[in-house]
Amino acid sequence: MGFFARLKQGLSKTRGNLTERVDELVENTVEVDEDFYEELTDILLLSDVGVRASTEIIDELRRRVEEQKIKDAAVARQMFKDLLVEEMNIPRPPLGWPMVMFVVGVNGVGKTTTVGKLALRFQEIGRSVMLAAGDTFRAAADDQLAVWAERAKVPLIKHQPGSDPAAVVYDAVQAAKARKADLLIIDTAGRLHNKKNLMEELSKMRRIIDRDFPEATVRCMLIMDATTGQNGLNQAKMFKEAVEINGIILTKLDGTAKGGVAIAIRRELNVPVWYIGVGEGIDDLQAFEAKEFVKALFGEDEK
Ligand code: GDP
Repeated sequence: MGFFARLKQGLSKTRGNLTERVDELVENTVEVDEDFYEELTDILLLSDVGVRASTEIIDELRRRVEEQKIKDAAVARQMFKDLLVEEMNIPRPPLGWPMVMFVVGVNGVGKTTTVGKLALRFQEIGRSVMLAAGDTFRAAADDQLAVWAERAKVPLIKHQPGSDPAAVVYDAVQAAKARKADLLIIDTAGRLHNKKNLMEELSKMRRIIDRDFPEATVRCMLIMDATTGQNGLNQAKMFKEAVEINGIILTKLDGTAKGGVAIAIRRELNVPVWYIGVGEGIDDLQAFEAKEFVKALFGEDEK
């Protein structure tokens, strides 16, 4: 199955929420009126877009509809779709070499899997990649990352479980410089219950990179599980306080994803969704395309 078909299938639950309801609304509404906006807001809320984002999006739609003096609900539907594409179509910050990709996110969201997928992706376009096991807290995390490193055929820097993650970063930076690697991807711990420690740990790692590898472009990617809904939004807020985030990678969009949360998260962090995970395999990482995403959300067929 192609990427679009899988995304579409994964988003079918959201689609049940979003598209069918929008279509139903449009079918039953000839002219745009107050009820129309109210219903549309409810639909966004049910699709996990969240209160703030939903209200702001509908306010903007209202502004455009009034400005262009649109009466026809079907035309407003198209404007609504265009608005969602615009929402998600934020340019990605450029890549620069050498680059350090710092990968953060709560346990279980697919962080380690995504590190493996990223390694393969950049390896395949001819970049030399190295991995660093910055999650020294979970003993299993190292082993899991080792499996992914092997699959992607890239070297992995790791220490004993329980050791200082900053020391791993230090060694990994030295190794990346010595081997002239293009890309160093650092996996980090995702335990949330100790927020203060996590924040300190992440900023300490970041300081080491800035100090010892100033020539590197640093990109911090937040991994989010698309199936967690509004809970994901709280995670995003927390990480935003701890580190500067440059992009989002949304995983599990092939599952019964509440795709609407992508819109809320994009707004909350004001950074682009960079990649999406559409499966458990090493090839199941795709560059995010706003237009395709909204089309899949609306259950439309590929052109
Ligand atoms: P971590 O704890 O954040 O490092 O998460 P893992 O990488 O161990 O992944 C947790 C689970 O999510 C594993 O069973 C993965 O196979 C699964 N997973 C990760 N990414 C995806 C994805 O894009 N789609 C699906 N369906 N499962 C995924």
